[in-house]
Amino acid sequence: MPDTIAAIATANAPGGIGIVRVSGPAAFVIAEKIFMPKRAPDWRKIKGYTMAYGNVGVPLEGGAVGEAICLFFREPASYTGEDVVELQCHGGPLLLAQVLRAALEAGARMAGPGEFTRRAWLNGRIGLAQAEAVMRLITAQSEQALRAAYTGIGGALGQEIKKIRDGLIALAAHIAAWMDYPDEDISPLRDCEAEAVLGEAEAALTGLIERSKGAQAVLEGVSAALVGRPNVGKSSLLNRLAGWERAIVTALPGTTRDTVTETVQLGNLTLRLTDTAGLRDTEHPVEKAGVERSLAAMKSADLVLVVLDASEGILAEDRALLGQCDLERTIVVCNKIDLVQGRPEAVPCKHVVYTSAVTGEGLDDLAKTAEEICQTAGFAPGEAMLATQRQAQCAVDAHAAVREALAALELAPDAVSVCLEDAVQALFTLTGERAGDAVVDEVFRAFCVGK
Ligand code: GDP
Repeated sequence: MPDTIAAIATANAPGGIGIVRVSGPAAFVIAEKIFMPKRAPDWRKIKGYTMAYGNVGVPLEGGAVGEAICLFFREPASYTGEDVVELQCHGGPLLLAQVLRAALEAGARMAGPGEFTRRAWLNGRIGLAQAEAVMRLITAQSEQALRAAYTGIGGALGQEIKKIRDGLIALAAHIAAWMDYPDEDISPLRDCEAEAVLGEAEAALTGLIERSKGAQAVLEGVSAALVGRPNVGKSSLLNRLAGWERAIVTALPGTTRDTVTETVQLGNLTLRLTDTAGLRDTEHPVEKAGVERSLAAMKSADLVLVVLDASEGILAEDRALLGQCDLERTIVVCNKIDLVQGRPEAVPCKHVVYTSAVTGEGLDDLAKTAEEICQTAGFAPGEAMLATQRQAQCAVDAHAAVREALAALELAPDAVSVCLEDAVQALFTLTGERAGDAVVDEVFRAFCVGK
């Protein structure tokens, strides 16, 4: 039998209301010890989806610490699938800590990160991909990410994967029967439309993988680095995109000597945008260290924005810098376009935009180009998608195994069986039904305590 867990479910800061959540077989017994309702209920007969008003605290240690409303949920109709009580108190961190302590002294154990959601998964309330969507709902930074997380909680991905998987399992069963009972009248592999089943699964997985390419960029965000010579307008662009004066802007070259990172929204992308020290040869030790950090930020970023001063044209240093960049994921930003008539000479990069950090001109183009590189244009938050690296890897593994099965059709049927088992296993791992402990731990590690 599982033990009973408790945690503060609300943020650790003063607020209107704070909630202590208790889940497990002893949840009601613990509530009876620490919650004193104004009108005493018959604790054994309390129904789910009801509530009571009263005081909460440790009666033996000087009585109540505050008023509370206690919400009751009966298993299996609760978030975790177990008996749950939620104590809604005034939202003071110290008060909540005392209520939690009371629950622990009454027999509960402190919940680990994501343990309530983990129990919901263990009790079959949600799939692993849905649990991941819960996490994304909490951390969503854009409206689209929020909508996609909501779609994920609905379980659309799990249903799509199940459909693919069921086809593969039926095929595997047919092959096994055919091989094990040669005397029975079971149609041989060639006739049983194995190729059609595998082809369908292959197409469905390809579609899902393609459709999801931009999803992770939208949902998990991408790292981007602003690089370029001093004074071309890198800090001004960061401030413009952030909507506030995040970085210091001066007319003096070499002011930004450290990297400054800010999360900004660019089109449908969430960027972790790093403003770097201007790249120039310098003997100044502080500036030199800054230049080294800039180069490191540039190398590790998903997207590199090389900023030029359009009023000065492309200088040899700009060309040298571009020579160090992976041009597929680099955008040349010709800034200060408000100061010049026309456009600078041909820029040696596929992706070029013309902007003014002062007027805001060209920032839409910048967003479009960044979306293009990150392949987020087709992102549809209402559809099932592979929303995390983990889910994408499982789908890619399953896809590879299905392709191998297709190739093996010409060879021995038992080779097809092995590939099918690999594909099914990868899909079960995706939805969590056969995921190992390490995978599950990894999913819930990122959760906060109380969720
Ligand atoms: P950084 O060293 O590359 O970060 O450049 P800053 O953002 O500090 O800008 C250097 C100078 O250029 C400041 O005086 C800015 O006001 C000015 N500046 C930046 N962007 C533009 C722009 O698009 N147009 C004009 N006219 N001035 C700009």
